[in-house]
Amino acid sequence: MTEEEFYGSILHLPYLKVESVVHGPKKIGIHCQITVKASKCPVCLKKRETINQYSLHKYQDLSISGKEVWLHVRVPQFVCEGCGRYFLHRPEWASSGKSHTDRQSKWIFELCAKQSFSEVAALVNACHKTVERIYFRHANKAVDLLGRYARVRKLGIDELAHRKGKKDYVCVLTDLERGIHLDILKDRKKETIRSHFQSLGNGFMRRIEVVACDIWRPYIDVCEACFPNAAVVIDYFHVVKSLNDSLDGIRKKLRKEHKDTDCFKNIKWALFKRPDHCCSRQRESLGRAFRDSALLKDAYDLRNEFLEIMDFSETKVSDEKRLDQWIEKARDVNQKGFNRFVKTLCRWRTQIWAFTQTGVTNAMTEGLNNMIRYYKRISFGIPNFEHMRIRVLVSGI
Ligand SMILES: [Zn+2]
Repeated sequence: MTEEEFYGSILHLPYLKVESVVHGPKKIGIHCQITVKASKCPVCLKKRETINQYSLHKYQDLSISGKEVWLHVRVPQFVCEGCGRYFLHRPEWASSGKSHTDRQSKWIFELCAKQSFSEVAALVNACHKTVERIYFRHANKAVDLLGRYARVRKLGIDELAHRKGKKDYVCVLTDLERGIHLDILKDRKKETIRSHFQSLGNGFMRRIEVVACDIWRPYIDVCEACFPNAAVVIDYFHVVKSLNDSLDGIRKKLRKEHKDTDCFKNIKWALFKRPDHCCSRQRESLGRAFRDSALLKDAYDLRNEFLEIMDFSETKVSDEKRLDQWIEKARDVNQKGFNRFVKTLCRWRTQIWAFTQTGVTNAMTEGLNNMIRYYKRISFGIPNFEHMRIRVLVSGI
């Protein structure tokens, strides 16, 4: 086998004949010719066989043993006898007007999945802008927005600060079953979210069975208007956090009022835990605190009772009457934080109670949002919203 035949079989590109190979210290130049006998005229779409001349094109291909590979290709120019048009044959392994093979650009796209554009640019010895262009060309094709929504039944809605400290939140939509981002909307305004859902069609809106979101009125309003068959569930972890904050408010107040007493010190995390998750030392310190404050004990018991009422399991029958009794007891405690919690609970009772029926939370969305933070970090914050959106959506494919 000659060296030319050897490189020809490694390249394995159709209708490409290697004529000579030049080895440089960092590059391998492979001179070759396209051997097609006929090509389709782009105007009349007829096959033509008359070659007018050859023109030279350069394509970067996948590296071989750490060296850049450059194909110097003689590409035939055909002439169409029908319409008199001269046209170049386009090799099927390269996009027109590009100076790399399709497999090289796909490789660059794959490298970008876990690295910044500038790191990839250094790796393949290309300019940062070229890498970015290649990435977004592939990414836009790969995202397939309508396809992503085709099977969604459980939707998560959450927000994320796009630029820190600027209060510009983006709205993040996730498929809670598949655990992928569906899309990122430029803000979390009612109109933006509504027109997005409507653009996905009635089939989509009727298919949604559950939506999980935070207490943010525009989300809840839009979801109730757009999804006729869906239960809107307020994220349970947010509810529990807000109840724990109310409980902690009482502890803080006691700390202030009894500066000389040690028993209210260092119990915050024990207080937040479920009793059966506390170790014996934590139980002892809670016991000491409760002996000094019946109010704290009542509030703690109340929090535990709430968790028990709200607990979700496939087999449990939830009793909503217990929630009525709980609300009465919480009102009797008559503490600022608890009163505020009860007010929120009564206002969004249907959506909070829906957790006991569905067991759906937004925890997955919050986890996925760490991925967005990661992309922002490796891309210097990605100031361009569209770029950030595409990078995140592609990562979930
Ligand atoms: Zn023609």
